[in-house]
Amino acid sequence: MTEFELIARYFDRPSAVSDAQTRLGIGDDCALLAPTAGHVLAVSTDMLVAGRHFFDDVDPASLGWKTLAVNLSDLAAMGARPLGFTLAVALPAIDERWLEGFSDGLFDCATTFACPLVGGDTTRGPLNLCVTVFGEVVEGRALRRGAAQVGDDVWVSGTLGGAALGLRRALERRDGRHGLPIDDPLQVALERPTPRIALGLALASIAHAAIDVSDGLAQDLGHVLRASGCAARLAIDDIPVAGALMDCDVDDRRRLAVTGGDDYELCFTAAPSRRDDVARAADASMTRVTRIGTITAGDGLTLLDAEGADWRPAALTGFDHFA
Ligand code: ADP
Ligand code: MG
Repeated sequence: MTEFELIARYFDRPSAVSDAQTRLGIGDDCALLAPTAGHVLAVSTDMLVAGRHFFDDVDPASLGWKTLAVNLSDLAAMGARPLGFTLAVALPAIDERWLEGFSDGLFDCATTFACPLVGGDTTRGPLNLCVTVFGEVVEGRALRRGAAQVGDDVWVSGTLGGAALGLRRALERRDGRHGLPIDDPLQVALERPTPRIALGLALASIAHAAIDVSDGLAQDLGHVLRASGCAARLAIDDIPVAGALMDCDVDDRRRLAVTGGDDYELCFTAAPSRRDDVARAADASMTRVTRIGTITAGDGLTLLDAEGADWRPAALTGFDHFA
């Protein structure tokens, strides 16, 4: 199979979303996108490397889903609407079963979030996947990291810690080569994250700052705090965690909630006067949101346990997350 046959067979699929904003898709030297008047482009790139971001033998359909989902999550965190994406892929060999699974998962995600594949590049090499996603957001409305204000509530969508516990389970079972069942909630959290596009859009005129939780809440909220020049106090046990974490001991559960990556939930801030609006945005987007703390003056992140005492994880590698 030539490179062009490969693209035609697996990637040049008629998009289930016929989008007036894709003026030209795959097949020319460039794709042509037409953002809505009064909007700015939101652009983000993420690379996934075999052995670093995923296991070589991961289910290819899940990998296809996640490759796009993690990029869409960045659009969600800006309150942007997807327009389209490009895919640069290096493949060690043409493995048709792998390509079929991968492209099925990829297009599953693309269709679900109305984000057509408009171009890319294909080459031979160690397995490497790079997506650039394009979205649009009303000028001046993007949810920027630097926009948190003292007195804001801190909110998080969904639950945290599930992907990190799923990864731990997957690593524990590596020897046997059998992971969790594909529909296990921890496996879904790890391999099929839901980008919070609808919530991000609904929050665009309500929230101040937002970020997606890809590296763990402490680290990602830390980016917001530094960019905004403020501090936050969170009630550690108010952080909503995946159901399976209830089987972990309390310190482990708290640590997974605060440092576990790969959940792709949104952490955002909004004025207390907007609580009803946040609740309506959550309802409209059918996404759970939970208030977990407050933005305060100063710098750094304070985590408080039920007694109001400072909580610090017993053994934490990325301890400077809290600096
Ligand atoms: P060029 O030589 O102009 O870079 P290519 O021959 O690499 O073009 O690609 C031909 C067309 O196929 C282009 O429109 C390109 O965007 C598209 N394409 C290449 N690889 C992929 C891919 N993995 N997914 C989607 N589109 C792709
Ligand atoms: Mg090319």
